[in-house]
Amino acid sequence: MSAAPVNEPTFRESVDLMYNRAVALMDLPPGLEEKIRVCNATYMVRFGVRLRGQIQTFVGYRSVHSEHMEPVKGGIRYASAVDQDEVEALAALMTFKCALVEAPFGGSKGGLCLDPRQYDQHELEQITRRFAYELIKRDLIHPSQNVPAPDMGTGEREMAWIADQYARMNTTDINARACVTGKPLNAGGIAGRVEATGRGVQYALREFFRHPEDIAAAGLEGSLDGKRVIVQGLGNVGYHAAKFLQSEDGCKITGIIEHDGALFSSGGLDVEKVRNWIISHGGITGYPDANHTAEGTAVLEEECDILIPAALEGVINLSNADQIKAKLIIEAANGPVTAGADDILRDKGVVIIPDMYANAGGVTVSYFEWVKNLSHIRFGRMQRRQEEARHQLVVDELERIDEAMGENWNLSPSFKDKYLKGADELELVRSGLDDTMRTAYQSMREVWHSRADVKDLRTAAFIVAIEKVAKSYQAKGL
Ligand code: GLU
Repeated sequence: MSAAPVNEPTFRESVDLMYNRAVALMDLPPGLEEKIRVCNATYMVRFGVRLRGQIQTFVGYRSVHSEHMEPVKGGIRYASAVDQDEVEALAALMTFKCALVEAPFGGSKGGLCLDPRQYDQHELEQITRRFAYELIKRDLIHPSQNVPAPDMGTGEREMAWIADQYARMNTTDINARACVTGKPLNAGGIAGRVEATGRGVQYALREFFRHPEDIAAAGLEGSLDGKRVIVQGLGNVGYHAAKFLQSEDGCKITGIIEHDGALFSSGGLDVEKVRNWIISHGGITGYPDANHTAEGTAVLEEECDILIPAALEGVINLSNADQIKAKLIIEAANGPVTAGADDILRDKGVVIIPDMYANAGGVTVSYFEWVKNLSHIRFGRMQRRQEEARHQLVVDELERIDEAMGENWNLSPSFKDKYLKGADELELVRSGLDDTMRTAYQSMREVWHSRADVKDLRTAAFIVAIEKVAKSYQAKGL
């Protein structure tokens, strides 16, 4: 489904090229480098569903990239151009993403070749249940082996159908709910999962802007407040990222690119209004309060401080990388910058916050949901007990830290309070996510700044992730 020009490598090759760049700077035992790079297996299935009086055949995939930890994890995508190359590239990115944020999973991804807009809800349910049946039969959906989640074209609704299908086929599995994440709250989901990827993008940017050296490396100054942001794709991820950055961090959303063109307003767009317009009109065309251009991708090249590609892979490629004017790119989508474009942008001094880190909020909160399902207890109840037991210790420790930190208190303002009092599920999810995004960023930047041969955050992210996967393989005796 790559939007990259034909003279570029495929998406999977692009991921491999980036991987190879990192591995060249590492000292991995012979053979291990290849073992970690290759995709272990891809299952392809063709199945028929009777729709509108006749049988229609669909093609679906589930790739397992690395089983160094199980279950393996990754979303299921519904899009008309899904193919094996794409699913394998996305599965590889899941391996490294999970390693980087220390979600204890291997990497996997699934896809179904269909345009969900062409089917009604009942038809989608039939198709989803049938696809799930094919995967469940082969343990490619299973609480301890392979746990899907939403991705492009799927959401809570599809996850609820998958969970129900699994439960019907495994009536004695007490952990059935943990077979998939991203479920609705009333079907075993967790608060904050829908917003999680966009929230993670916001937390990633907040962490970036806590480091003056990094801000300067991108040629920027100051804080997020007032920064001009262009977002490509106002789907679940782009919408939440843009909304939170606008309403909570003072960013100005100057451009929004969608499938039917782009909106641009130097004074800033109202994200909520644009989103509502898209929901009621099927696109941004006709939106009243901004300039509309039919040639949406041209807006990728507009002046801005931060560019957030939050849709497809390959949108920043050899054909437009030179024209990109953003100083900072945060990859809310998976693989939006091709390997060739990555080289060009690095040479231009653009800082890229890489996908495997930037969009890891989704799988991080999926991890919390999976743990909640397996523990059979509301998320937060156990934590609150532990907090009560540690209460006095925590109070003492925080007082000590507070004193030592003085002006440089580096935790979110309400964290201390929340930590002491205990919190509801949504607050716990958000603070757990915030913590994860901070820690992962710091581990990447440490490599970026401490090694002269590491020139960018993507290579640093790969190094941190590959080291973790390698350790896990070595511990297993491989
Ligand atoms: N589809 C999301 C991703 O690409 C979430 C995966 C998950 O939660 O397992 O990271």
